[in-house]
Amino acid sequence: MADVVIVGGGVIGCSVAFHLARAGVTGVVLLERATLASGVTGICPGGIRQQFDGEADCLLAQRSVVFYDHIDEILEPEHRFAFEKSGYLFLADSDAVLEKFRRNVAMQNRLGIPSEILTAADISQLLPAINTEGLSGGAFCREDGFIEDCHGVAFALARRARDLGVRVIHEDARSFLRQDRGWAVVTSQSSFQAQHVVLAAGVDSVPLAAGAGVPLPIKAERRRLLYSTPTTSGQMNPLVAAPERGFAGKQLTSGVFYMGWLRETPADADLTFIEKTLEAGSTLLPLLAELPARRVLGGLYDSTPDHRPLLGPVPGVEGLHLAVGFSGHGFMIAPAVGEIVAAGIVGTATDLPAAAFSLERFSTTIVDEGLVI
Ligand SMILES: Cc1cc2nc3c(=O)[nH]c(=O)nc-3n(C[C@H](O)[C@H](O)[C@H](O)COP(=O)(O)OP(=O)(O)OC[C@H]3O[C@@H](n4cnc5c(N)ncnc54)[C@H](O)[C@@H]3O)c2cc1C
Repeated sequence: MADVVIVGGGVIGCSVAFHLARAGVTGVVLLERATLASGVTGICPGGIRQQFDGEADCLLAQRSVVFYDHIDEILEPEHRFAFEKSGYLFLADSDAVLEKFRRNVAMQNRLGIPSEILTAADISQLLPAINTEGLSGGAFCREDGFIEDCHGVAFALARRARDLGVRVIHEDARSFLRQDRGWAVVTSQSSFQAQHVVLAAGVDSVPLAAGAGVPLPIKAERRRLLYSTPTTSGQMNPLVAAPERGFAGKQLTSGVFYMGWLRETPADADLTFIEKTLEAGSTLLPLLAELPARRVLGGLYDSTPDHRPLLGPVPGVEGLHLAVGFSGHGFMIAPAVGEIVAAGIVGTATDLPAAAFSLERFSTTIVDEGLVI
């Protein structure tokens, strides 16, 4: 009998496996139906930010940045990871949005996150190529940035977990059955007995949980990213998000711009979002209007009603744990998620705000995490 079966080998399942193994839990099985990081982790560009509306979200991100700062020492990967601290810049057109940023920055500074409010003149100085017409200001955190290798991070977590005794098994989990002692996880090929089951299978967690009698408030939202041909580097190093214009984008270290359309979820076959993205982006950086699009990547957000993940034990269902509902920001908080979920299984205390992410919160009034890009 395994102590813990984790379903899903994306960055989240791999982080949970690593944190369990590091906490000394033996008998951990990580089930992945395809290859590790073959879900949305594989297409995630690797943005890491600490700027959120909610204090609990900021704390998860802040703890994860400490992990990512020391990732090479902790995981001893074959190749070192580059955490590019190029910053995240949120732009405001209206005074109302700038006012919200001011409140966020005050809360973030109280937690020790070095975000700041920038005027349009400050933005020009930071990013001379940006057209600041119509901007009332922005919020910037220089400690935010990118690790452009989410796939590599997931693999490095899994490799360390394996070194510490975790078994990675490539089978498709079909259902969970409650037993006298623990759970039976039935897969395409076999069945695993476990005391604890962790659901970390992204949107595919929903039918699995439903089969165990647990409805999850998660909606699948298709998101796509547009990648340009490479061009002269250094024009937009921070991730720039202009929520009121529906645009977010960044120039990657290769010189390629990657961009997203934030207004609505484009239908699978609808490519009009390419034009909308480039049009909105070119109001900030005129060269984007002329830049050929080279490829489009897509994936699903596993969105919850308040855009916060569901983490830890399911109340009233012994031994079932959640690591789902990342609403578009799972990579950046994956280290802290692993810590919270492992603590919930081992039964140790954590100074992270685990209760804010419990499924139980949906039985009371919810407050939305509005900073979703
Ligand atoms: C376009 C886009 C851009 C994004 N940008 C960012 C960003 O910049 N920064 C950031 O932090 N986040 C970003 N995200 C979100 C981030 O990619 C995800 O939150 C994160 O990768 C989630 O990881 P996961 O392990 O939960 O899911 P996944 O990576 O999808 O992993 C789930 C795994 O479970 C496996 N699985 C499913 N069902 C079963 C089953 N029945 N049995 C066995 N295995 C199963 C799948 O094969 C898959 O490998 C972005 C997402 C998208 C779509």
